[in-house]
Amino acid sequence: MFEKIKLEDLSKENILAYGEFYKGELNSSSLEILSPLKEIAQTLNKKLILVSLIGSLENIKDWEEIKKSLADEVWFVINEELKDFREDLYTEVLVKIVKFSQPYGFFFPATKIGMSLAPRVAGALQVGLCAHVNNLEVKDNQIIMARPTYGENIIAKLISKSIPIMATISLGAFGIKYGEKEPSIKEIIFPEDFVWKSKLKIRRFAPSKKKPTKLSTAKVIVAGGRGLKNKETFQKLFELANLLGAEVGATRPVCYEGWVEEERMIGISGVTVRPKVYIGFGISGALQHTVGMENSEFIIAVNTDKEAPLVKIANLALIGDAGKILELLLKNLSK
Ligand SMILES: Cc1cc2nc3c(=O)[nH]c(=O)nc-3n(C[C@H](O)[C@H](O)[C@H](O)COP(=O)(O)OP(=O)(O)OC[C@H]3O[C@@H](n4cnc5c(N)ncnc54)[C@H](O)[C@@H]3O)c2cc1C
Repeated sequence: MFEKIKLEDLSKENILAYGEFYKGELNSSSLEILSPLKEIAQTLNKKLILVSLIGSLENIKDWEEIKKSLADEVWFVINEELKDFREDLYTEVLVKIVKFSQPYGFFFPATKIGMSLAPRVAGALQVGLCAHVNNLEVKDNQIIMARPTYGENIIAKLISKSIPIMATISLGAFGIKYGEKEPSIKEIIFPEDFVWKSKLKIRRFAPSKKKPTKLSTAKVIVAGGRGLKNKETFQKLFELANLLGAEVGATRPVCYEGWVEEERMIGISGVTVRPKVYIGFGISGALQHTVGMENSEFIIAVNTDKEAPLVKIANLALIGDAGKILELLLKNLSK
């Protein structure tokens, strides 16, 4: 179906991005990381290649997404044993690809799988790994990776001394962009004596009963912080979200207080979001929170303190009691 290519014939010094598949679907975070990587690849005059390990081509549901992606090429490794993610076998396969194709960089989305796989691959290759990068740029022909550090209080800029440069990229830090040219698709053929065996056996899948939040792709977000005072008032955000077709987000302290589940935390320890409209109720706007939402198109802050950092970066600020303003909004919108 596609051009088949042996490991030893893989092109070299490219930029690789890990394309994570789950049940035949390409995780959108893999498409997200292609956005900054495309710019980097173009600046450095290198090819951008999406590398995916899958059990079979038949199950792939996202051909359109793959064809529209920013990758110059897509490399598939296809084997029944790769149907489910198993760290040891996946690591071994990726390490082989790196050894033969000697990429300049290899980047992973910071998904659970990406965060498990990237350090294993980096460890096996004895190279450095920069975790949770939320910005990438090229200066003097070098890739500079930014990530929050020191209790997430400052942004550190890191340059890797080892090749391939490796990093995991924060979820939601970049939007998905599409390319104009279809990538060429290749299937990597492994040597016949390669052992497709994992020490891990999957006995059963127990899918989470909770529906995953759609925070990272939401167009409107209503988020709450300590200024909402208690769990009951916070819960009213869900009514507002219902009326606005929005998702509910939160700051870390209110998640830790148990007002809402941690999946809704926005910020450095949680999700990065970029909605069209973000409304923050009783949120101070600490750096650890704002790095996760500062790319929102329109920011509204509701706070009693007009000096609060979130008020300062907001496009519109409502100075007043967040609980009361929330109540008024609900009353008026439900009419
Ligand atoms: C390593 C580390 C990682 C972290 N990661 C995250 C993260 O991912 N996400 C995150 O959010 N935080 C994170 N934090 C915590 C972060 O530093 C802040 O403490 C947190 O964001 C503050 O949450 P808050 O705005 O709800 O509370 P506060 O900072 O206490 O702010 C409450 C705000 O409400 C206002 N207010 C008070 N009463 C009212 C009222 N009646 N009406 C309206 N406004 C009112 C106040 O003026 C204030 O501005 C992290 C901290 C560390 C050290």
